[in-house]
Amino acid sequence: SLTAVEAVDGDERAVEAALRPRSLDEVVGQQRVRDQLGLVLEAARQRGRAPDHVLLSGPPGLGKTTLAMIIAAEMTTPLRLTSGPAITHAGDLAAILSGLNEGDVLFVDEIHRMSRPAEEMLYLAMEDFRVDVVIGKGPGATAIPIEIPPFTLVGATTRAGLLPGPLRDRFGFTAHLEFYEAHELDEIVQRSARLLDVEVRADGTSEIASRSRGTPRIANRLLRRVRDYAQVRADGVVTRTVARDALDLYEVDASGLDRLDRAVLDVLCRRFGGGPVGVSTLAVAVGEERETVEEVAEPFLVRRGLLARTPRGRVATAAAWQHLGLAAPAAAPG
Ligand code: ADP
Repeated sequence: SLTAVEAVDGDERAVEAALRPRSLDEVVGQQRVRDQLGLVLEAARQRGRAPDHVLLSGPPGLGKTTLAMIIAAEMTTPLRLTSGPAITHAGDLAAILSGLNEGDVLFVDEIHRMSRPAEEMLYLAMEDFRVDVVIGKGPGATAIPIEIPPFTLVGATTRAGLLPGPLRDRFGFTAHLEFYEAHELDEIVQRSARLLDVEVRADGTSEIASRSRGTPRIANRLLRRVRDYAQVRADGVVTRTVARDALDLYEVDASGLDRLDRAVLDVLCRRFGGGPVGVSTLAVAVGEERETVEEVAEPFLVRRGLLARTPRGRVATAAAWQHLGLAAPAAAPG
């Protein structure tokens, strides 16, 4: 049920890689994170040591992978990439860790989805630069310690709260990435248009920015769809009219809500009378995983003032009813 805008293919990945900022200076927005991280890296460089482990949290598409790549680039060390779901056994992790060289940056995406035994192995590796590999089973099993050269772990997660406390505590620096402001997204779209050699007008890029759901990855993706439209249906120039017509065609609404965002609001208002309703119930009703609703759709809807989290469940705000073109019940929060 993915729309064309949501689909990710190999070509998309190549373009995404081409548009990635390569240094902290090229990163748009996230000023505080850039300042803090810049300091961590500079201090490590001066001491000639691997920087502290870094945890990056925030919804998908806000720049976590980009920052991990930049950390490696700024330290002029190689980046090794893996992800929580790829590490099903502690042995998988042991193999990765024992293959590291001193100063390497190891990026673990979706680190909250690692298996428990792997997690425990990681605590030890982060703290003591050592793993214990267990050989054999039962009473005859022996743990063989293996030294790991000092490395920097960069973990990414949609929400830091999903990590067990002991793992979270072993990161020396934690940064939370926020959704981007429209003017920052506008800057990102302009930068990408330059890199992709697309002719744009200011009102065209701002139209794309305002419909990008606060997310650079979406801004870049929408730019490509609008470029297609401009090329085929217009004279190749991205103006406001071209952007609007293209995005209407791809069913991206004026506030940038995507299919899931809209489905959540729709179910919340039409089926549950605006709530309060539990997030699991909402997830079942829209046919999605609870995690996806909670970590992808909700943060944006809350940020937009369309949904409120209350102790009794999720509630549609007056703005949500208005967004759906429905009359709000008197009790809807403002
Ligand atoms: P995440 O790992 O959080 O899902 P990525 O780092 O893969 O997100 O970013 C997705 C895309 O968005 C990248 O191609 C990158 O070009 C772009 N992007 C992300 N953050 C920024 C930023 N701050 N400035 C410019 N482009 C960005």
